[in-house]
Amino acid sequence: MVEFRTGIEDVSTCDVLVIGGGPGGIASALAAARNGAKTVLIEREGCVGGMATIGLVGPFMTSFDGSGKVQIIRGIFDELVRRLEKAGGAIHPSKIGKATPYAAFIRKGHEHVTPFDSETLKIVAEDMLLEAGVQLIYYTDFVDTIMDGDSIDYVVVAKRQGAAAIKAGIYIDATGDASVAVKAGVPTSKGREEDGHIQPATLFFRVCNVDSERVYAYVEENKDLMGQPFFGVFSWLIKEGRKTGEWTIARDEMGTYETCSKGEWKLNTTRIQNIDGTRSEDLTKATIDGRKQVQEVYAFLRKHVPGFENAKLMDTASVVGCRETRHIKGLYTITKEDVINSVVPEDVILLCSNSIDIHDAKTGAGEYITVDKWYGIPYRSLVPQNCRNLLVAGKTISATSDAVSAFRVMPCCYGIGEAAGAAAALCVQESTVPARLEYGKLRDALLNENVFLGD
Ligand SMILES: Cc1cc2nc3c(=O)[nH]c(=O)nc-3n(C[C@H](O)[C@H](O)[C@H](O)COP(=O)(O)OP(=O)(O)OC[C@H]3O[C@@H](n4cnc5c(N)ncnc54)[C@H](O)[C@@H]3O)c2cc1C
Repeated sequence: MVEFRTGIEDVSTCDVLVIGGGPGGIASALAAARNGAKTVLIEREGCVGGMATIGLVGPFMTSFDGSGKVQIIRGIFDELVRRLEKAGGAIHPSKIGKATPYAAFIRKGHEHVTPFDSETLKIVAEDMLLEAGVQLIYYTDFVDTIMDGDSIDYVVVAKRQGAAAIKAGIYIDATGDASVAVKAGVPTSKGREEDGHIQPATLFFRVCNVDSERVYAYVEENKDLMGQPFFGVFSWLIKEGRKTGEWTIARDEMGTYETCSKGEWKLNTTRIQNIDGTRSEDLTKATIDGRKQVQEVYAFLRKHVPGFENAKLMDTASVVGCRETRHIKGLYTITKEDVINSVVPEDVILLCSNSIDIHDAKTGAGEYITVDKWYGIPYRSLVPQNCRNLLVAGKTISATSDAVSAFRVMPCCYGIGEAAGAAAALCVQESTVPARLEYGKLRDALLNENVFLGD
């Protein structure tokens, strides 16, 4: 052990400090600032968007109900999508049907997805944050908390020029890893509590110059080979590829998603197992393995999939995508049964219909359960145990591993973030803490912002 102590001269204050600029963080910061709080957002990379930009993840999964008739995730998410569409960087989900190339031809649970362009997202989301008066600080890593009993007094961050301390009324952990919560003494678990199962990671990549019409025709000709209503595209090619040794990846189908630019596709296909995404060493190994797998998938596509013969590799994601790391323990823990039984709690802050989607850590298989109508996310699941002035936004809210596999998707994370940001601003206005905030006031604030909370 080495002791390391230093005084910090760079000290600043704000009402609400959002840590992490992914879907949860963007929406948190926007909602906090729009509700009158002096808001700072710190992000370790040079852009916002989180997995949608640095991880090239997409499309945004469905924001509609299980019947595909009602858009249920609205508010900031819908505003962002409309601005992206206006800038030529998205297609509104109301225009996207079932089993489309935008949804990897999947026939159930993938209706009304939103294809978008990651580069446009960087600019549009940044503009929205600056317009709302959020102070953005990029290239700044959260490092630790300084606690005063069970409240965070300061967070310590690493700026490029050195350590800095930021003091806020309310802190929002939107790191996607619950990194602030764990340092603040909030109980957390990694993966599935019963057996430690952690969903595998994926390094996304993009290709362009694809003859999309030929791909559509080839899928249509072979649609019976897909075999079931969920996944299975190109599974028949993979079966052959395993025999010849050209396919060694633990995945039985390809996640091939056309973006909003014709001929440009995102590949959600590599699979890296047994990765703890909170450790640099594991992430390094995953990224190196992922890039090797990209070479395999790219060669396979060009050789075997009609339409991809002249595809050109555009880029691999700069950050490997970890579906799951930590989950916090909050005032309520959402379970798989809540999702499957369409439970809508009294303190609902968001309705979603996204399917349980468990990628198995060992095999190429998984579990996929669709939802008929919708289920609700309770405010209490954003409020951590053991820390008074912290909220959590995004995929690490209090839920079991199986439950979060449904609503880890980005539209839900925007919705969760919007509620966290509005709640944080209300807490500052009322000099209270998240656990004591009157739910009715939060509900009113969300309804004012076009959030849909049921009929
Ligand atoms: C492989 C994979 C495939 C997926 N497929 C889809 C899909 O097709 N559609 C869909 O809608 N969703 C999909 N998802 C889910 C979705 O991308 C994530 O669950 C979602 O982005 C989580 O949002 P978040 O805001 O919680 O965290 P993230 O998106 O992870 O954002 C966290 C942000 O915090 C920053 N950060 C982290 N630590 C620190 C720190 N210490 N200091 C400062 N900043 C920090 C990060 O740089 C990042 O910008 C997928 C996820 C993965 C991994």
